Amino acid sequence: MKNILITGGAGFIGSNFVPYFLKNNPDVNLINLDLLTYAGDLANLDEIKNHDRYTFIKGDIRDRKVVEHIFDEHNIEGVIHFAAESHVDNSIKNPGVFIETNVNGTFILIDVAFKKWMDKPFQYKSDFTNCRFHHVSTDEVYGTLGETGLFTEETPYAPNSPYSASKAGSDMIVRSYHHTYGMNTVITNCSNNYGPKQHDEKLIPTVIRKALNGENIPIYGDGKNIRDWLYVLDHCTGIELAYKNGKSGEVYNIGGKNERNNNYIAKTICELLDVLNPKDSGSYNEQIIFVEDRAGHDRRYAIDASKIEKELGWNADENFETGIKKTIEWYLKKYN
Ligand code: NAD
Repeated sequence: MKNILITGGAGFIGSNFVPYFLKNNPDVNLINLDLLTYAGDLANLDEIKNHDRYTFIKGDIRDRKVVEHIFDEHNIEGVIHFAAESHVDNSIKNPGVFIETNVNGTFILIDVAFKKWMDKPFQYKSDFTNCRFHHVSTDEVYGTLGETGLFTEETPYAPNSPYSASKAGSDMIVRSYHHTYGMNTVITNCSNNYGPKQHDEKLIPTVIRKALNGENIPIYGDGKNIRDWLYVLDHCTGIELAYKNGKSGEVYNIGGKNERNNNYIAKTICELLDVLNPKDSGSYNEQIIFVEDRAGHDRRYAIDASKIEKELGWNADENFETGIKKTIEWYLKKYN
């Protein structure tokens, strides 16, 4: 049995990853460390809460004593680090906690891992030789694109929001622990995820919820901002592959070649709701309104995922049209 520490497993992506990874890997115990901020919800993990290879610990990645205790108590042999403050809008209003959690928290985690697993730079303790630190990050670290072009692993970092700057900072810390101390690290930078269990504050749950409540559906600016949308379980398979087979010190971009603008997202959701949950009269489309743009709103993100596809054999199973239908069906159960 291998003991892997998951951080932030009660959030959106973590709570999709934990049940998936437990099922696929009968030889691992997962220890989930999550502070249960407003973004974490244990109900997301109801399906595995009594699983015999799963342990939940409420705690803060910024608390070195807590993290050290978990490494000792559970003999941690791998880390998959999801925990973060993750909402760009919140980072504009309150950037401090993004730096504390995403930068300082990542530093504490990887520094504890280094001290528990290694005797000195480039020398792992004999019981911990293959221990890996996997840092889950975002394509937002690369900044914004014009009409053309894709983010590759070589694209220079140019974060534009306090959120993406804090994630860029955390990526650099992880990079430095590989180069300076020889730690076995891997970083994945993924595009926008969507799917079940995402927090209400994010775009897709907001569109669905407001539509069903008969409220205005707010779209920033002209609605032409483009993101490369990936179904969350496709992200989970990419993380699993990179964690297990990625090369030490490498970075892998994950994205599904599904560039869609916000107008298309809102319109598609409304049209699907018109079929799956019709209104008495008219279309949900009529509820869409445009609101003042987000400050510093990046125009376009798009990922070149050819490295993880070629080197690790990853491919997305869903396109936006298949994934969004599954997502809406899940939210219809939640909101109705
Ligand atoms: P989320 O906000 O839904 O969940 C974050 C989780 O971290 C929550 O359960 C929260 O309680 C926990 N957490 C926050 N601060 C903590 C702390 N100090 N100590 C312990 N736990 C803490 O986020 P998400 O959307 O699931 O994203 C997970 C990771 O993936 C993040 O690192 C994010 O940057 C990255 N990412 C997200 C997306 C996306 O589209 N959602 C895309 C690419 C990368």
